[in-house]
Amino acid sequence: MESTNRWHLLSPAEVLKSVDTHPNVGLSPQELAKRRETFGENVITQKKGDGALVLLLKQFNQPLIYILLVAAVGVAILGEWVEMWVILAVVIVNAIIGFVQEARALKAIEALSKDLNAQTQVLREGQPKLVPVSELVPGDVVLLHSGDRVPADLRILQERQLQIDESALTGESLPVEKQPNALESEAAIGDRTNMAYSSTMVTYGTGRGVVVSTGDHTQIGQINRMIASADVLATPLTQKINQFSHIMLWVILALAGMTVVSGILRGFSLNNVLLEGVALAVGSIPEGLPAVVTITLAIGVSRMAKRKAIIRKLPAVETLGSTTVICSDKTGTLTQNEMTVQKIWTGGTLYDVSGVGYDPQGKIHLSNATEPLHHPLPMPMQRILEAGILCNDSRLVEKTDGWIVEGDPTEGALITSAWKGDCHPDYRRLDTIPFESEYQYMATLNQVGADRIMFIKGSVERVLPACEDMLTTDGTAAFSSEDIQAEVTRLAGKGLRVLAFAQKNLAADTASIDHPDVRNGLTFLGLQAMIDPPRPEAIQAVQACQEAGVQVKMITGDHLGTAVAIAKKLGIEHLGGADEPVGITGMDMAQLNDEDFVRVAREKSVFARVSPAQKLELVKALQAEGHIAAMTGDGVNDAPALRQANIGVAMGITGTEVAKETADMILTDDNFASIEAAVEEGRSVFDNIVKFITWTLPTNISEGLVILIASLLGRDLPITPLQILWINLTTAVFLGATLAFEDKEPGIMRRLPRKPGQPLLGQDLIFRIIWVSLVLVAGVYILYEVIVQRGYDLEVARTAAVNLIVFGELFYLFNCRSLTLPPHRLGFYSNRWLLIGVAVMIGLQMLFTYAPWMNRIFGTEPIGPRAWVAILGMSFLLFGLVEIEKSIRRRSPQN
Ligand code: ADP
Ligand code: MG
Repeated sequence: MESTNRWHLLSPAEVLKSVDTHPNVGLSPQELAKRRETFGENVITQKKGDGALVLLLKQFNQPLIYILLVAAVGVAILGEWVEMWVILAVVIVNAIIGFVQEARALKAIEALSKDLNAQTQVLREGQPKLVPVSELVPGDVVLLHSGDRVPADLRILQERQLQIDESALTGESLPVEKQPNALESEAAIGDRTNMAYSSTMVTYGTGRGVVVSTGDHTQIGQINRMIASADVLATPLTQKINQFSHIMLWVILALAGMTVVSGILRGFSLNNVLLEGVALAVGSIPEGLPAVVTITLAIGVSRMAKRKAIIRKLPAVETLGSTTVICSDKTGTLTQNEMTVQKIWTGGTLYDVSGVGYDPQGKIHLSNATEPLHHPLPMPMQRILEAGILCNDSRLVEKTDGWIVEGDPTEGALITSAWKGDCHPDYRRLDTIPFESEYQYMATLNQVGADRIMFIKGSVERVLPACEDMLTTDGTAAFSSEDIQAEVTRLAGKGLRVLAFAQKNLAADTASIDHPDVRNGLTFLGLQAMIDPPRPEAIQAVQACQEAGVQVKMITGDHLGTAVAIAKKLGIEHLGGADEPVGITGMDMAQLNDEDFVRVAREKSVFARVSPAQKLELVKALQAEGHIAAMTGDGVNDAPALRQANIGVAMGITGTEVAKETADMILTDDNFASIEAAVEEGRSVFDNIVKFITWTLPTNISEGLVILIASLLGRDLPITPLQILWINLTTAVFLGATLAFEDKEPGIMRRLPRKPGQPLLGQDLIFRIIWVSLVLVAGVYILYEVIVQRGYDLEVARTAAVNLIVFGELFYLFNCRSLTLPPHRLGFYSNRWLLIGVAVMIGLQMLFTYAPWMNRIFGTEPIGPRAWVAILGMSFLLFGLVEIEKSIRRRSPQN
């Protein structure tokens, strides 16, 4: 049946017949199992990215590696085979490390960009049920809602204002309105208005469609245009490092050229002169740099994933470290989204509701009494409870560990409160206006006996103005809007989320309802107020952010009073003047001119009843103020704001597919604390990259200088080109790269955010790199000269010089574990990899110094205890000097 490519020309009935299914029931379990056999999983076969070989070859495509390759050819021409092999070993080891790391990083990131267990709603035995997208088969009846990603190719059967963004398939960015009727004539994919294609996004409305093709048979599957993984690993930082490498390349070539020319002018043998040039070039190249940056970023991604923040776009790892403001949703992100109705105000009377959570244990009683209400309930109470349960798309389910909501927590709370009043209405629903944040209400049309009644629940601002009277125990009566508003203010001031309820009797033949029906003529039923306590971990995270110079702003669709009360409980800072209100509503923001809007964006911390369009404006205003903004969102309409934000954060549990698609980061637990954790990890990633650079450059600079000085002075080299290669090959891997595993430093969240334009290395670090390099060069020359003066072989002096560089770097590695803190603050064992690397490095140096075959290859000779005392003494001196410099800087904290 899948071969038919003419679904759009058939009527719904013909389609249903052809795929053999029932539109209101779906497939039977037996049929389902059979079809799963036939059609397989609904997944698109991934087109392979670059093959392993291409990825490996790419490792050689770096300017710094070109030099090495040219050098290898150069020494081969000179007949220096050992040198050639060692250079090639450097290149190959480097390529393998780069390859392994990059493959790992790519795999991690590919796994992230795949759907996080995407689910979809289908009809099973007449009941809507969430199932994994991969389980869909032709004939399944799928229910679409705004924000969903279409899970397979569907033929639309019913729809309500259904609009679909098909840009993933057609490139057309305007959403297409869908309808169920057959098309008269052949049409291009973009014009098949009765089809919904896999991977496109529902941007508005709801609909029902039957699956006609799945997996590779879908339109998108046939195109198989998967995201190429080409520059998945490119970030602003890696680009910066590439630029830096290019500059380095020319500097190194110029210096190497200089040594060669000066050697030739002095009349040295061409062989030696060229070898020196090569040694200088090879020694000065920080080969490990690009690989270490990638590893560090990849480690950051996996650390964030462990802390429930899934990175979808690699640059976000870097940006997170510079975040200066987090704009967060309230409900569910800062709060627990565990709603319980505590107060009901109806017919002019306030009632309390007892009990906790969704468990329907509890009673409703007058606010100042303990005696619960009995049946029959007062009429307005009966109706407000009915409205809550009828105007509702969620379900309560009892699990072994308690009651949970399937659906919207706000709605779950209303079911619980109705059940506590022993209210179980069973009126058929004829039509629905689904809840959209934009409208702030939901309405249903129900058959109540002989009457057709529309029930409405929503925000007080939207519902109350449309009411013309109020239900009381004695029928309808006039009401005082001020009194009700005062009640709302009182309830919201306690942090309660307040919903208003209303009803409207419609003509007995009314079959459908629409937004205009909700605008007037309603009868007010009352208020239900529910608590949604702050997440305890969010309180801590808010504090941590604020200490770290990251502002927290609450953006919510909820009432200002509720939002302000919750913000206070969370400890969200008051940024404007002390007598200025901490929050503002979207309505008030709409009145502001641009300048005031920016000021308000800066000074206010709570933004209530904010529309998605205003979220976008807010992000822009904050960015205009120089902020690096993270913004959370879950709905379809949040996508523009998520895209605009420096870090768009989508909710993994409650978020729509559209929001997740747009986001840079997804929170698997919807929890604000996870954003804070990600910021922390982002800072640590940057730290570790800077630590590596601070560590590696002195090695390269000192090696380069040792050769440069010797060749300019026309003297024997204290370290041979081959030995330089050895140092580079081993230290970058066993010492430097282990810094990528360094844990985050204590106090990482007590610094200000890193400025985005700020150079990687500050003046203090450049200064440190230079003086450490000079100390190493001086040490090498002193040690070498002393040993030569005492009449030892040149080989002994060189072996000592190499060991000095290596051990100097090894001690300096411990300095670099933190750029500011003393080593004892970090815990000696906290970086296992570093200790293992150090042990291996020491072992290698022993071989290098004492193993006869190593002596033969590298021209080394065993050295005695006095040489070791000098080497370790000087290395320790270097370590001490760096610590002294660090402590002086700690005491004068201008940077
Ligand atoms: P938030 O998630 O920031 O609290 P929403 O946009 O979800 O904001 O909700 C805005 C307002 O819409 C709420 O304050 C409430 O009055 C109303 N509302 C929320 N959920 C529902 C719902 N399921 N049905 C009807 N009204 C709702
Ligand atoms: Mg909400």
